[in-house]
Amino acid sequence: MKNLKPFILAITALIFITSCSDNDTNPVENQNAKLFETHSHEVCSYIDSYWGANAYIGSTILNQSETNFITSQNVKIADVFNINTIPLYFAKGSGTANAISYGSGYIIFGEELYNMALGQGGRISCAMVQAHEVGHQLQYQNNLPTRSESTARATELEADGFAGYYIKRPNGYNATWTQAAPAYNFAASIGDYNTTSSGHHGTPAQRRSAFRLGYLLGDYNLSVSSFDYNFFYYYDNYVLPGALRQDLKKPDDIDEDLHKFILSKMEELRRINSGEISKEEFEKLQ
Ligand SMILES: [Zn+2]
Repeated sequence: MKNLKPFILAITALIFITSCSDNDTNPVENQNAKLFETHSHEVCSYIDSYWGANAYIGSTILNQSETNFITSQNVKIADVFNINTIPLYFAKGSGTANAISYGSGYIIFGEELYNMALGQGGRISCAMVQAHEVGHQLQYQNNLPTRSESTARATELEADGFAGYYIKRPNGYNATWTQAAPAYNFAASIGDYNTTSSGHHGTPAQRRSAFRLGYLLGDYNLSVSSFDYNFFYYYDNYVLPGALRQDLKKPDDIDEDLHKFILSKMEELRRINSGEISKEEFEKLQ
């Protein structure tokens, strides 16, 4: 008899997991978000294989104040990129040290990751993670990146670039470099949050240079497709050849001032990308 209770619990858990994986794995595609939130903890804890078995979708992340912060950031990010606000869900419980941008058009931010980012990099780190994930939505929507590599590197570096752009924009986070760099170092140190977890995502030094390039481009108001064009035009010059092409021509569709400005930063970008500028020195750039 003494084994009866655990046995019942095990069966119960199995039923919950089965029913959840059949019906409720996708809060948006099932048009079932409300139900999912209401019943997630008690009835249905299974989200999908990217999250812990007992993780569940809740309506807040950490507390109401942080929920309001990240929700308002999500609206602002969409505003900067001129898109509709991306639906944002919160994964709670254990196994939620993650943030995932889904191809079907929504983002799930995990509470454990949020807490880690907040504790080590502050709110600006949480905003960067969210902007990186929205960056993937921009890629889904616009069939980006235009650069194709055999690994996920170009996709991930561009998402870091979008995050840097958002952090700089006056109508975005509007952060100084002194505020942005230490927070980005934290974000880069905990890796990448894409749903495609396989493959190479860029070295930490490459990721720092991508974030920096995006931040510098944030001095200019660019459409999503211009951002992609500019980002890879300059990225190609310092990431791929290993040496700068001093005669890098300005294409017709790149703004003259922007071109001059980025050219003046190319040697710095190359040195960030190669690791000659350390993580600590990166934080001291102007
Ligand atoms: Zn990513």
